[in-house]
Amino acid sequence: MTAPAAGAALRAPAAPPVALDVARIRAEFPILGQQVHGRPLAYLDSAATSQKPVAVLEALDRYYRQDNANVHRGVHALSERATRAYEGARVEVARFLHADPHEIVFVRGATEAVNLVAQTFGRQRVGPGDEILVTTLEHHSDIVPWQLLAAERGARVVPVPVDDAGDLDLGALEALLGPRVRLLAVTQVSNALGTVTPLDRIVALARARGVPVLVDGAQGAPHLGFDAAASGADFYVLSGHKLYGPTGIGVLWARREHLEAMPPWQGGGDMIRSVTFEGTTWNDVPYRFEAGTPHIAGAIGLAAALRWIAGVGAGAIAAHERALLGRLLAALREVPGLRIVGEPRERAGVVSFLLGDVHPHDLATIVDREGVAIRAGHHCAQPLMRRYGLAATARASVAAYNDDADVAALVRALHVAREVFA
Ligand code: PMP
Repeated sequence: MTAPAAGAALRAPAAPPVALDVARIRAEFPILGQQVHGRPLAYLDSAATSQKPVAVLEALDRYYRQDNANVHRGVHALSERATRAYEGARVEVARFLHADPHEIVFVRGATEAVNLVAQTFGRQRVGPGDEILVTTLEHHSDIVPWQLLAAERGARVVPVPVDDAGDLDLGALEALLGPRVRLLAVTQVSNALGTVTPLDRIVALARARGVPVLVDGAQGAPHLGFDAAASGADFYVLSGHKLYGPTGIGVLWARREHLEAMPPWQGGGDMIRSVTFEGTTWNDVPYRFEAGTPHIAGAIGLAAALRWIAGVGAGAIAAHERALLGRLLAALREVPGLRIVGEPRERAGVVSFLLGDVHPHDLATIVDREGVAIRAGHHCAQPLMRRYGLAATARASVAAYNDDADVAALVRALHVAREVFA
């Protein structure tokens, strides 16, 4: 197979984006209008979960008020409407990912998607003595499912190292891509450091050795989007709740030939063609992988979120976030005693930091009292934290609705923390 062209995996905006009207966008997120501990809320924790625009809230409300019914099996009007909306959501996701709707499987989230691939594709492909390459940047949800698989199959999970800046060591990756490697799992964006991985080069290296690639897009999708068709990758996973959509809904994109060859994962209703006690046959893809009643409202809400993103402009959102993140970084560097953790070549969405020797949890607690929501901890990336000799960091993350007032509120709160811990 041919390697993708450089720059193909990340969808570049077609035209210079129009500047975002952030005040207008903020007005579409009712939750942001509240006060927390008597201060205006500055929500800088979108990497954990994003807030939801009115368009998404209304889509959920409308569905439950007007259309609620089970999908696929009913012939009555409500069921037909619910089925149309659910399948329409699949088409919307396919459009977002530049993929075929048959390649879109609805799951609970990125975590479930990785587990699905590990327990179907992985079980088929990985045997004793084989290797699964997993980068040190990965979230636990893109490490542990591979460890479970490796333990079951007598295989090994081999970490791909990162350098001091937080970038993947591509030389090491190339050297590790040996004959026993059956899969490479790599994140698009690190949730802990904000590193954007050079997917085009990574996928080209892996494909040159015939190694399939799973891309964790949980953090990448909201900031960069993804072009599945151009990417050269084999699997892509995302979580709706990080993408302005509801919790409990996520997406697995897989190349159709993989889905066709993969055995079912969970058994139940809707994933079968026929069931007898003598033997059961499977439904077509992607339904074969969606056993039981799906999260219908979640899929509809996710589609509304994707339409909202398209309406605002993915390129405009990305440009706004990039510029705001730059100003956030510059402002943090001015805070005495503050250390940024990770200085990757390319960054999206996230900045991790430490303030003197204040424990990040204490820092996040003080900052919260000032109305500022940040995250503290190991960010479900313990191997990465260990790489830098840390147990935890504080993390601020941005989305379309953040503005300079949020940055100023964080910096003000950090100065309060400095005084408290002086
Ligand atoms: N991968 C990354 C990079 C993440 O940041 C997260 C969520 N923090 C996940 C996977 C897992 O997503 P979810 O919990 O929605 O399944």
